[in-house]
Amino acid sequence: MTDKIMIVEDEDDIVTLLRYNLEKEGFETDCVTDGDKALTAIKISRPDLILLDWMLPGQSGVEICRQVRYDNDLRNVPVIMLTARGEEADKIKGLTIGADDYMTKPFSVPELIARIRALLRRARPVKTKGELVFEDVKMDLATCRVFRGDRFVHLGPTEFRLLQFLMERPRHVFPREELLKAVWGADIHVELRTVDVHIRRLRKAMNEGGEQDLIRTVRAAGYSIDSGFSDDDAGTDDA
Ligand code: CA
Repeated sequence: MTDKIMIVEDEDDIVTLLRYNLEKEGFETDCVTDGDKALTAIKISRPDLILLDWMLPGQSGVEICRQVRYDNDLRNVPVIMLTARGEEADKIKGLTIGADDYMTKPFSVPELIARIRALLRRARPVKTKGELVFEDVKMDLATCRVFRGDRFVHLGPTEFRLLQFLMERPRHVFPREELLKAVWGADIHVELRTVDVHIRRLRKAMNEGGEQDLIRTVRAAGYSIDSGFSDDDAGTDDA
């Protein structure tokens, strides 16, 4: 399976450099040079990762990144921002708008490729034949069954959808608002506390056999599925 990288960049030299090196590394590439056309092009291309230049004609990379994160089909696609601006504030802004990583131009191609590979590994749960796998958790999406190792985990439909959403992007922290929208739908009026209630049920069911807690609570930020987080976070149900 070839990973496809979408290059959103208006400078010809950089596009040529990136395409040549990425294809040499076995990636498929796609390219769009106009900020206003980027989102549509990304939707058509369905890339596995997006390299996104900050300064573009038309919409900026920042604006495009924001739209990618609000798009149901694209929200899980890793984004690396490419920026000519080295100021710390810009970098931080780049990360809070939902970019997964950033590189300042001029960048080292081998380093960029290393970061691309790292993000692709992290973003992609091992997904084979309708299965999601993270650590010892296995979700069979066809039969809606969940296992931890050999133990069958009984989950209600809401907990199943919640777990599936978290498993589709391991280690990414989702705010409760986002989980609410994804699992219950945007139109249904459900209180944020409801998310906490179902996370509590999910955690209980998942850890019933004394397994390691993989549901991470990040105070004031949300929830993720993760491993190796500090004990300070473990066992707390409310984000
Ligand atoms: Ca540019």
